[in-house]
Amino acid sequence: MASGGGIQIPSRLPLLLAHEGVLLPGSTIRFSVDSPRNMQLVSQRLLKGTSLKSTIIGVIPNTRDPEQDTEDLPTLHTIGTAGIAVQVVGSNWPKPHYTLLITGLCRFRVSGLLKERPFVLAEVEQLDNLEQYTTSSTEGTTADDGELGELSQKFHQAAVQLLGMLDMSVPAVAKFRRLLDSLPREMLPDVVASMIRTSNKEKLQVLDAVSLEERFRRTLPMLTRQIEGLKLLKKSRKMTPGSEKRVCYGPGPLDRDEDSDDDGDDTASLEKKVHGANMPEAALKVSLKELKRLKKMPQSMPEYALTRNYLDLMVELPWSRSTKDCLDIRAARVLLDNDHYAMEKLKRRVLEYLAVRQLKTSLKGPILCFVGPPGVGKTSVGRSIAKTLGREFHRIALGGVCDQSDIRGHSCTARGAAQITFGNVFINFNFKNPNCLYVPHFTDHYLNVAFDLSQVLFIATANTTATIPPALLDRMEVLQVPGYTQEEKVEIAHRHLIPNQLEQHGLTPQQLHIPQDSTQDIICRYTREAGVRSLERKIGAICRAVAVKVAEGHRLPETDASTLETSLDVLMFPDKAAPPEMPIVIDQMALKDILGPPLFELEVSERLTLPGVALGLAWTPLGGEIMFVEASRMEGEGQLTLTGQLGDVMKESAHLAISWLRANAKTYQLTNMVGAPDPLEGTDIHLHFPAGAVTKDGPSAGVTIVTCLASLFSGRLVRSDIAMTGEITLRGLVLPVGGIKDKVLAAHRAGVKRVILPKRNEKDLEELPANVRAQLDFVTAGNLDEVLNASFDGGFPGAQARPHASSKL
Ligand code: ADP
Repeated sequence: MASGGGIQIPSRLPLLLAHEGVLLPGSTIRFSVDSPRNMQLVSQRLLKGTSLKSTIIGVIPNTRDPEQDTEDLPTLHTIGTAGIAVQVVGSNWPKPHYTLLITGLCRFRVSGLLKERPFVLAEVEQLDNLEQYTTSSTEGTTADDGELGELSQKFHQAAVQLLGMLDMSVPAVAKFRRLLDSLPREMLPDVVASMIRTSNKEKLQVLDAVSLEERFRRTLPMLTRQIEGLKLLKKSRKMTPGSEKRVCYGPGPLDRDEDSDDDGDDTASLEKKVHGANMPEAALKVSLKELKRLKKMPQSMPEYALTRNYLDLMVELPWSRSTKDCLDIRAARVLLDNDHYAMEKLKRRVLEYLAVRQLKTSLKGPILCFVGPPGVGKTSVGRSIAKTLGREFHRIALGGVCDQSDIRGHSCTARGAAQITFGNVFINFNFKNPNCLYVPHFTDHYLNVAFDLSQVLFIATANTTATIPPALLDRMEVLQVPGYTQEEKVEIAHRHLIPNQLEQHGLTPQQLHIPQDSTQDIICRYTREAGVRSLERKIGAICRAVAVKVAEGHRLPETDASTLETSLDVLMFPDKAAPPEMPIVIDQMALKDILGPPLFELEVSERLTLPGVALGLAWTPLGGEIMFVEASRMEGEGQLTLTGQLGDVMKESAHLAISWLRANAKTYQLTNMVGAPDPLEGTDIHLHFPAGAVTKDGPSAGVTIVTCLASLFSGRLVRSDIAMTGEITLRGLVLPVGGIKDKVLAAHRAGVKRVILPKRNEKDLEELPANVRAQLDFVTAGNLDEVLNASFDGGFPGAQARPHASSKL
């Protein structure tokens, strides 16, 4: 950023409407963002993007009331600053918002608006050509600099003078000095204007000064004013150098605005809230101390945002508020059943838990932890529990919580905290999610003051227990929530998802009808998931599309819109407008039109048309997945190459598989490319595990690798309707593996007909829904011989039983 040379901003920029503060090139500002458009910009652009370019956004000062953002887009200021979002901190407490740290790069002019929602996207023209800036501020000016040169020299001198009056031990002053030495002079007006005391109005004037001369002309008086003010203060108060800094920099950030001090107001109102929050004395003391620190901190310090969040949290905590539990087990059962289809085991356990709590009012039970793939209703059950108890429901995402005391807090009552109940706190172990919001750890060590959480009912959710620290896991009762079968999903869709989505989109069943066949189609051709989240989204997309049709239909019926009379009639009596034929029925054609071509057309059988491909089953925290294993061979020196997203254990399985096949090559008549008895002789093998979303590791791919290689070495095709899982040993035994239920459900989803499992996993089949069990053919194998026999049409007999196989290639 120092030289800024060569920065070229994209010609289309998403715009952040900045309600507070004016970002100038070269400065870094913290923005708190909570209006709908800005939130969308952060979640859909900043948190989703992966390139540096996607972190560049346009910041447009917006002096209008932020509330207006929900309505039509206000008239925008035409000049803004493109900036890089260097930090995004999200929090959902007390309400969802993000705090962005943005460093300004250069000015731009909005030349046209491309879209207004979900966030504003504009065509922009870059105004500052940074590469032209060459004069380092320490160099002198050249003869042909003219007026600009003169202005810039004056400005530089004034800045040096100001610097001389400040306390160099203050970090911000030291930074000021560094910038003054290193930046091209052309950048100084922006940088200095953002560091000295200027009002937002003045900063806006600097932003609007597109020509450099104008910029120097506007900022020079601000700089001089600061110098004069300092001189005056020095004289009148005879200040010591040490306390000077307080005049210039404290309390609050360097760019503190003297005239219309929004931030001052902000901290003042925060202070009021701190006093009014009814905190116990100890908490009040800590809060006031933090508030004092906050006032002294420059806004651009990352710590500022953290301290601010901390204080907001302290103020919001219900120090003396509580809800009363109203627990009626029968009502709870009805509510849970009404809201959720299936999930019998989970619902039963939750009711037991609630019943025990009703009988025994102490809350010292275990923390419940629902573990399962996304979209299987974990959060939703949590919400229902809160509803049954008549409690408030809060959701906090936690990463890095290590101990149960981190959740419950330490023995707070011992330290004399007030007894407080503040409802259910719902905790989501969102470890895996890279976009995971950083939310303040709701812990004693975060609060640093006693806050009694003993009356809070904690429920945790996680995709896998693997990421939960053992100390914490130990204190929790884990309830597995497995994925759903196709049939269960259809039921959930028709009982819950479709009615909910219809309601959310203002539609009625008389307007939109999704037949079961189409739901089936959405489930198997447009989604591939253990839960129902994508399914819900797809139904939402259908509702949106239909809502548009319905709305259009009401305004202008196509049939007789041509006659003026009818049009008037329609305008005057909208109810009389004939809607398009109702209900709109979503058939295959409509699905294709709304959702696009099916995403999962590739049938398993199509993939298995070459020797050297086998279908495995993997378990991931997101549920079971089918996993193709592909192998090819070429002339070489017996090398094995492995590619795809796989871990060490899987590599070991590959070596084991090859060793076993080589050892048994004669029995099974496996050969190399030219028919020699060692499959690896003069041959390189390449094994590929096509990348899925999640890195797969674990021993359960062993049987699949063996089958895939046996197919490659024999030239025979693996049956197209079979999938398998199982660990192998060097001696060819098949050992049991985990996640059978999820894996079998994934195979079922993918249309597989036959599943090979380790013999010792037979008992796990009992957990499967009856219809899945009925529709699949299970082969339980104790050794690899059985696996191979089941994997190939007509079996995979040993040498004696097979006709002589010559070279296949
Ligand atoms: P999770 O927390 O497991 O990731 P959610 O609770 O957010 O999933 O569920 C996603 C959506 O699916 C919600 O709208 C939820 O109501 C719905 N849903 C999931 N399972 C069921 C079920 N068994 N019955 C009814 N709705 C369900």
